[in-house]
Amino acid sequence: MIRSSKTESTLKEPIPWKLNRCRIVHPENQSLIDDGLAVYFKAPYSYTKLPTLELHVHSGRAIIASLLTSLSTIPLLRPAEPGEFTKQALLGGRLDLTQVEGLHDLIEADTEVQRIWALEGALGTTRSKYDDLRQKVIHCLAQVEALIDFGEGEEIEEAKIEATSLLEQLKEHLNDHRRGELVRSGIRMAIFGPPNAGKSSLFNYFANRDASIVTSIPGTTRDVLELTLDIGGLPIIVADTAGLRETEDIVESIGVERGMQTAKGADVKLCVLPLPDVLDPSSTPDKTIINIPEAVAPLLTQDSHILLNKSDLVPSINMTTVSIKNVPGLDLTGRVWAGSVSNGTGMAAFTESFSSSIKISLGIETGSGGADARIHAPLITRERHRVHLEAACRFLEAFLSYGPDDVVFAAEELRYAAQAIGRVTGDILADDILDAVFRDFCIGK
Ligand code: GDP
Ligand code: ZN
Repeated sequence: MIRSSKTESTLKEPIPWKLNRCRIVHPENQSLIDDGLAVYFKAPYSYTKLPTLELHVHSGRAIIASLLTSLSTIPLLRPAEPGEFTKQALLGGRLDLTQVEGLHDLIEADTEVQRIWALEGALGTTRSKYDDLRQKVIHCLAQVEALIDFGEGEEIEEAKIEATSLLEQLKEHLNDHRRGELVRSGIRMAIFGPPNAGKSSLFNYFANRDASIVTSIPGTTRDVLELTLDIGGLPIIVADTAGLRETEDIVESIGVERGMQTAKGADVKLCVLPLPDVLDPSSTPDKTIINIPEAVAPLLTQDSHILLNKSDLVPSINMTTVSIKNVPGLDLTGRVWAGSVSNGTGMAAFTESFSSSIKISLGIETGSGGADARIHAPLITRERHRVHLEAACRFLEAFLSYGPDDVVFAAEELRYAAQAIGRVTGDILADDILDAVFRDFCIGK
């Protein structure tokens, strides 16, 4: 509930920041609603910086209905809009826009990495990074403005050295392979391979339920099936695709084509191959040699992953040295595993190593996983941030292109650069940004 403006109250002020046990009664007829608790947050030390009273009642539907009805009899009191408390916190300066977005992501986080990154945003790591950058641009601007009033044109060089370093920092920050956006919105992973390799079985293994039809008739999966899963703390949108093979069947060939497109566009490519079919006879106990089926080879790239499935059907093989015989130059060292989806052999190790490999290849984690693995933060988690930061880069570049006689124009570019960064944190707020940020907030936050 939000109180629209100041109302006079005859009640005495509760002790602030203390959980007070109290009888909650109807404001007019004093009838008892519940035996509950109340906390009073005295302004400005509340989330919204406004005086806030929090009532803790038993969660029964009738209690809440009765409470809300009785509260609505109090003049000027009305239910809050979705995100209104947080919006108030933003307008009161308690939070900046990146913290609001982080908070929203935190509420929405489904997986561990999403939670960790959202928390960084909510606690203000992103904010301080951009505040700092903006301050540095403003420092450059101050130097240049001093020149306009008093200086010699030569001294612009000093501001240019600073601006060059800021531009480099920004560019490096932007060159993040969009991993922030990927983790926020889900990493697209395609499971592909020849028919009957065990793709759908693997999809079901990941899903831990029978989400995809598994049969021994090749060509059963005709379309692309998708499911969002938590794999090693990452939100992964897994797509099970039709087996890649030459086919006369029109419907199946559409499925094959779609599967190929899905695999090409995926952030993570996981190829499943049936080990008995692809194991080259020249393999030795020291070295495993595999042959990639012709229809699959064009989809394999240097960042692909391979699971050699149905290991239960072959004698044990050596996975430390694996080479691909028929695709010269393709080196997937460390990204080829063997296992059996149907009896579970090697699957736990595969899942762990695979998710860690994804984290490293997407630059989410440094090192080789394990305890010393570090997750990079803060990151650009939204296109909105990227647009403004790219604009800031362009303004800095424009600034650098001016000669010593154009200080007035040069200063203008720095001012724009600072404004662009300010738009990320919300120092410069526009109604359309606010609407976009709060549109999908839940009620009561
Ligand atoms: P897809 O065509 O690649 O999606 O393959 P499916 O998941 O439909 O599996 C094809 C057949 O292989 C089914 O009969 C599965 O039960 C079987 N299969 C899947 N994984 C294994 C495995 O690890 N070992 C053995 N022996 N059979 C498997
Ligand atoms: Zn399938």
